[in-house]
Amino acid sequence: MAPQELKSLVRTIPDFPVKGIQFRDITTLIGHGEGFAATVDWLADGVRISGAEAIAGMEARGFIFGAAVSAKLALPFLPIRKSGKLPCDTIGVDYALEYGSDRLEMDPTSVVPGQNVAMVDDLLATGGTACATARLLRQAGAVVENAFFVIDLPNLGGAEKLGECGVSVAALMD
Ligand code: IMP
Repeated sequence: MAPQELKSLVRTIPDFPVKGIQFRDITTLIGHGEGFAATVDWLADGVRISGAEAIAGMEARGFIFGAAVSAKLALPFLPIRKSGKLPCDTIGVDYALEYGSDRLEMDPTSVVPGQNVAMVDDLLATGGTACATARLLRQAGAVVENAFFVIDLPNLGGAEKLGECGVSVAALMD
């Protein structure tokens, strides 16, 4: 399926989660079997070409795409979780949101030191989540050079922010 066709499968919900936000909802994309498969194929091609040895996906929608890509390429999947969800010892990183802050955590033993880890998520907005994830993965000993997104909202500067973090961005659609 062409990128334009895949884009037409993403639904935009006005005023969610708060008034004034146009929420890009990928549930309609993953609810379309052929569309989901084509999206995973596109992400997997990018990850394969990048030479990544493992994939990190950010909770929650990064799990949907990241885990599918990992299974397709037979690469390890590293879940990057919200605070307090992992049962094991964790390392964490705090990062700023528009209002307040949030925390991401991971199992530090899931990374082999020097392992090249690619990040996969549904959407890139300001880049705050992905930059924090890159910092966390690096704290665990990973090399992080590439991130793959289904959607990039280019006006929010996420790709530039990730560039400053030393991460290249590829996105299937805007
Ligand atoms: P950022 O940290 O500002 O780049 O925001 C990206 C994170 O917020 C990703 O983990 C997305 O899943 C989530 N996100 C932000 N806006 C949207 C949206 O419109 N649709 C779906 N997810 C979003």
